[in-house]
Amino acid sequence: MKINAVVQTFTMINFDNNTRFKDYSMLCPCGTGLTYKLCCRPFILAENQATSPEQLMRSRYSAYAVNEPEYIYQTYSLVSQAEQSIEDIKQWASETKWLKLIIHHTSDYKADVANKDYAQVEFSAFYQHLGRFWQMREKSNFILENNLWRYHDGDVSKSVEINKPKRNEVCICDSNKKFKHCCMKTLS
Ligand SMILES: [Zn+2]
Ligand SMILES: [Zn+2]
Repeated sequence: MKINAVVQTFTMINFDNNTRFKDYSMLCPCGTGLTYKLCCRPFILAENQATSPEQLMRSRYSAYAVNEPEYIYQTYSLVSQAEQSIEDIKQWASETKWLKLIIHHTSDYKADVANKDYAQVEFSAFYQHLGRFWQMREKSNFILENNLWRYHDGDVSKSVEINKPKRNEVCICDSNKKFKHCCMKTLS
C-alpha cells in the first residue's frame, strides 16, 4: 500500500521545470480529467491550435504549470507580447505551483463569427508562490489574430492570500476534499 501511494504521487506530480514532461499518463493540470497528453500538451507543443478561448486559457494555465514559457509568450496578442519577456514568465513559473483552475464563464464568441473576434473567459486559479498560497479571479480578454485565439489582457477582480490549511482541514480550492487528499498531493 505504501509503495503504491508513493508511485501514485510521483505520477501525479512529475513536474520538471527544466525539461518537458516525460510522464504523459499524468492528469492535465488544467483539470479536465484527461491526461496531459490528450488535453493541453498538443497545443503547448504546437501540434494543434486551440479552437476556442477557453481551450487557449486552459492550455496557457497548463503551460504555466509545466513551465513552458515560450508557449505562454507566443499566445499573447501581438500588442501584449511586446510587453512580455520569456525570461520573466519562466522565472514566475518556476517559483509557482499551480493547484487548481476553475472556469466560471466563457462569453458567447460564436454568436456572430463574422464580427466576433474577441471573447472573455472568467476563471479562478489557486496557486502557491514562494511558499505562500493565493487565490486569484480574473476576467481575461481574448482576441482572434490571424484566425488564432490569443490572450490580450485581463481584469483581476480578486487576489487574496490564503492561510495554509492543516492536513485534515478542507482544501483551499473548493473541492470539499481534505487538504491531504487534494492540493497537498500536488505540492509534495
Ligand atoms: Zn488541459
Ligand atoms: Zn485542493
